[in-house]
Amino acid sequence: MSSGVTYELIDTIGVITVNNPPVNALSQALRLGLLEVITAAQKDASEALVLLCAGRTFIAGADITEFGKPPVAPFLPEVLSALENSRKLVVAAIHGTALGGGFETALACHYRCAVPSAKVGLPEVKLGLLPGAGGTQRVPRLAGVKAALEIITSGNPLSAAEAADLNLIDEVLPHENLRESAIAYARDLVDSGAQLKRVRDITLNASSLEPGFFDNYRRKLAERARGQIAPDRIVSAVEAAVNMPMDQGLIRERDLFMELLNSSESRAMRHIFFAEREAAKIKDLPADTPVRDIRRVAIIGGGTMGGGIAMCFANVGVPVTLLEIGQEALERGLGIIRKNYAITVQKGKMSEAEMQQRLQLITGSTAYEDLADMDLVIEAVFENPDVKKEVFRKLDAVCKRGAILASNTSYQNIDDIAAVTSRPQDVLGMHFFSPANVMKLLEVVRGEKTANDVLATAMQVGRRIGKVCALSRVCYGFIGNRMLAGYGRQAHMLLLDGASPAQVDAAAEAFGMAMGPLAMSDLAGLDIGYKARQAREAAGEVIDPATDCVSSALVELGRLGQKSGAGYYRYDPQTRARQSDPEVDALIRAHADKLGIVRREISQDEIVARLFYPLINEGALILEEGIAQRPGDIDIVYVYGYAFPSAKGGPMFYADEVGLKTVYDTIVRFGRELGEEHWKPAPLLERLARSGNTFSAWDANR
Ligand code: NAD
Repeated sequence: MSSGVTYELIDTIGVITVNNPPVNALSQALRLGLLEVITAAQKDASEALVLLCAGRTFIAGADITEFGKPPVAPFLPEVLSALENSRKLVVAAIHGTALGGGFETALACHYRCAVPSAKVGLPEVKLGLLPGAGGTQRVPRLAGVKAALEIITSGNPLSAAEAADLNLIDEVLPHENLRESAIAYARDLVDSGAQLKRVRDITLNASSLEPGFFDNYRRKLAERARGQIAPDRIVSAVEAAVNMPMDQGLIRERDLFMELLNSSESRAMRHIFFAEREAAKIKDLPADTPVRDIRRVAIIGGGTMGGGIAMCFANVGVPVTLLEIGQEALERGLGIIRKNYAITVQKGKMSEAEMQQRLQLITGSTAYEDLADMDLVIEAVFENPDVKKEVFRKLDAVCKRGAILASNTSYQNIDDIAAVTSRPQDVLGMHFFSPANVMKLLEVVRGEKTANDVLATAMQVGRRIGKVCALSRVCYGFIGNRMLAGYGRQAHMLLLDGASPAQVDAAAEAFGMAMGPLAMSDLAGLDIGYKARQAREAAGEVIDPATDCVSSALVELGRLGQKSGAGYYRYDPQTRARQSDPEVDALIRAHADKLGIVRREISQDEIVARLFYPLINEGALILEEGIAQRPGDIDIVYVYGYAFPSAKGGPMFYADEVGLKTVYDTIVRFGRELGEEHWKPAPLLERLARSGNTFSAWDANR
C-alpha cells in the first residue's frame, strides 16, 4: 500500500487501483508499485486487468517535483512496456483528467474506457516538453498523424466523446460510476473473446499525407510558436512514428524528450509553472488567516476596464452591480458588455442561454446608496487622483463595515486613497490588465494599512475569477508598469539612435514578445501616454524630449495609433495589418537632427539588450525595496500581464540564464556610451553580478 497501488480480484477481473492523492501523479513509488502488481497479476487467476484510480482523477501526469532531480528507476517507459506486453488483457478506466504520463499509461493498455465527464490530453508542450513515454508514437497510430499533431502541439485536452471519435478511447461508459461500469466492460471484453489490442501493432498508414507534409506543418507552426523549439521537436517525433518501427520511434522520442528536458526553454516554462503557485502565497501571512465572504460585488466605472472586470465576476456566477456617473454612460458600458458576450456566442464559445444567465447577474446603477450591501467594491474610474478620492469618500459613507474597497488604479498611491476613508485597513489595489476579462494577471496591491484578511480574500477572489495573482507593495506603477517605463523609453530612444519602428518591433517579436513595444503603443493609443505626460508637466516635472518627442509629434499629427488608422505605422483599414510609413521615418530623422543625435546602424542584439535589460534592472530595485516578494513574482507579472514569452521564463529568470555579470557589464557599458542617466545598475544587480550569484539563488538563501 505504501506504493499507492492496490490489487484485488473481483471474480476473474483483477482490479489495480492507484491511490496517490491528490492527483495520482506518477511518482517513483507508484511506478514501482504498478510494475510489481502487473508482474504478479500475470500469474494469478485473473482473466483481465482493470487499471483505475481512487480519488478525484485518473493519473493526472508526471510527478513534477521529480523534474530537475536525477531520475530513479523504474522509468515510465519500462512500466508501460510491462502493461502493453501483459499476457492478460488490460483495460484503463479513466475518470477526471488523464494527462501527460497519465494518458500515456492509458495508451499502453489494450483498451481504454472513460466516464462521460473524463478528459484526456498531452499538455507537455506547455512546459516546453513532449510526451516522452510513447505518446508521440501511440497517438498517431490511433488517431492519425494530423489529429496527433494537433493534440500534442496544442497541449489542449479532449473530452471523452472527442477522444472516442478519434479512436483514443474505445468505450465511453454509460454513467459516472467508474468502478462498476469498468469491471462490467472488462467482463464483456473477456466474454466476447476480445483480442489483446496493442497500439504498437498498428501499422501507421501515412499514404494520405501529401508530399512535404511535415515541413509544411513545421513552417505553419513556427508562425505561432514564437521561437519555441518544443512544437518543432514534437513534429520530429511524430514523423518518426511514421518513418520508423515502434521501438526505434520510442528511442527517437526519448532522445528528443531529453533534448527538451535540458533546454533553457523548458527550464523557463517549468519555472513559470512553479512560480505561479508560489506567487499566490503571501510570505508573512499566517496560514490560518481568515477570508471574508464575497457574495456581492460592485464595480465603479463601466469603461474599458470596469466592464471587463464585471464580466469576470458574472462569468463565475457572482452578482455584480456596475455603477456609472450617469444613465448614458451606464447604457454605453452595459452595451459594450452585451456586445462582447454576443461576439463570444457568435464564435460558438458560449450558448445564448449562458450569455443571458451572465447578463442577468449584471445590474446597472447610478446611485451609491445601491452599494450598501456589497462585500467587495472595485473602483475603475478615470485615472485621476481627485476623482478616485471622491469615489472612495462616497464608498466610505455608504458601504457596510467589513466591505473590501479596491482600486484598479495603474499608478495612484493606494495609501493616499485609503487615507480619505475611515477604514484604510479595508482598502487595497486590485490591478487588472486590459482586456480585463481576458488577461490572466491580477496585481494585488498591499497598502501600508491593508489588513491581512483583506489581502488573503483578494488573492482568493482573484483565483476564483480565474486570475493568476501576484502581490505588489505601493510604488508608482507597482511592479509591472513601473518596470515597463524603461522598456518604453528605450523603444523610443532606439528610434532616435537609428532603428526603425519595424526593426525595434521585429527584434522584440523575435525575442518572443507577442507584439513589439511600438506596435503595442499603437494598439493601446499614443494619446494615453501623451495625456499622462501633459499631467506630469503640469505638475512641474521636466521630461527629457529624447524619451517621447516622436510619440508626442505623432499625437499632434492626429496619429493616435490603430484607432485612427496610423501611429508609428499605417494600418490597413480592412486587415489592420501594419505597414512601415516613410512619413514616420522622416519625422524620426527630423527629431534626431534637432536633438543633435547622429543616427547609426543598430544591431538586433543591441535592441534586445536595450529593451529588456532595463526591465531586469528595475526588477532588481523592486526586489531590494521589497515591492515584490520574490523574483518569480516579477516573472509572473510579466508573463501573464505583458505577454513576455514564457519560454524565456520572465525577465528575472531570463537574467539568470543570460548571467547577471553579462547583464551588469552591458548596463555599465550602455551607461558609458548612451549616458548614465538611464543606465544606473541597481545595487542588488551589481552585488549579485560581482559575487557570481543569480536572483533565484539569492532568493532561496535569504
Ligand atoms: P475609461 O475612461 O475607459 O473608463 C472610466 C469610466 O469611469 C468611464 O466610463 C466614466 O464614465 C466612469 N467614471 C468616471 N468617474 C466616475 C465616477 N465618479 N463614478 C462612476 N463612474 C465614473 O478608463 P479605463 O481605461 O477603464 O481605466 C479605468 C481605471 O483602470 C484607471 O484607473 C486606469 O488607470 C486603470 N487601468 C486601465 C487599464 C487600461 O489598459 N485601460 C489597465 C489597467 C488599469
